[in-house]
Amino acid sequence: MSKIIDGKLVRDIVKDELIKKIEKLDVKLTLVVISVGDDPASRVYVSQKEKLAKSIGYNFINLHYDNITEDKLISEINKLNIDKNITGIIVQLPLPNYLNKERIINSLNPLKDVDGLTNYNLIKLIKKEEALIPCTPKGIITLLDYYKIDLHKNIVIVGRSELVGLPLFHLLLNKNATVTLCHSKTINLKEYTKNADILIVAVGKKGLITKDMVKKDSVIIDVGINRIDDKLYGDVDSLCMENSRFMTPVPGGVGPMTVVSLMENVYLAHLMQIK
Ligand code: NAD
Repeated sequence: MSKIIDGKLVRDIVKDELIKKIEKLDVKLTLVVISVGDDPASRVYVSQKEKLAKSIGYNFINLHYDNITEDKLISEINKLNIDKNITGIIVQLPLPNYLNKERIINSLNPLKDVDGLTNYNLIKLIKKEEALIPCTPKGIITLLDYYKIDLHKNIVIVGRSELVGLPLFHLLLNKNATVTLCHSKTINLKEYTKNADILIVAVGKKGLITKDMVKKDSVIIDVGINRIDDKLYGDVDSLCMENSRFMTPVPGGVGPMTVVSLMENVYLAHLMQIK
């Protein structure tokens, strides 16, 4: 039976360390979340960010638009980009389909891009240069560090999105791990997952990974969040617990780490801006 990797516990430790650093600053940092449209899940995520940001001691501003044109949105972002009182900006995803996500994200000042989603920050990450790193991969690395998981093992990531799988692949590679990145076109996924000492799944399909697909005594990080009838499920079947050494629960695993990593990025963005 596996040991639970407790994201809430590690989140609280990271949060306390962050508060100590923030208390030493003589300015109050400000996080702006831009949201467009009416996505119910986004509303929940924005309010989680607001709660944590305020409890840490940041100013929090949610600029919400029911409807806005792409050019107007970019001109609002440009104002925030040059406003010295704003430390970090995120554009809450998903955006409505009529907006060009790539163009909007890449209009962010890279030093304020606390979600780490601009091309600028992705390239910096790949090149192993100082960057703002996407929050979910960053949180996963913090979890693996906290539980002292040896990364010099066979690591398999399932899912190659620019939000999770792709940056995580590079982060792990930068730590000299040997990583295989699987995705929707991977033929015979089980052949890969079955050999993974560390399996990280970020797909968005409840129960995609079943017990017969995981290696005995492996470490399983379940990033998936699948909301069904108001209940949350991961991508990994809970029976996999019986085979693994460590596993993250859903909820309470990667989710809390994502939000606290965003707060760490706001502090880091401040340090990068005053350099
Ligand atoms: P995405 O839709 O952008 O990417 C999904 C990836 O899964 C793609 O790369 C695709 O190739 C791959 N995929 C799809 N079907 C597959 C299959 N049958 N076999 C193998 N690979 C397959 O999604 P995303 O934004 O990366 O999010 C993935 C999941 O993680 C979602 O459930 C999302 O809600 C969750 N998520 C959780 C957090 C958190 O904080 N816990 C943060 C971000 C995303």
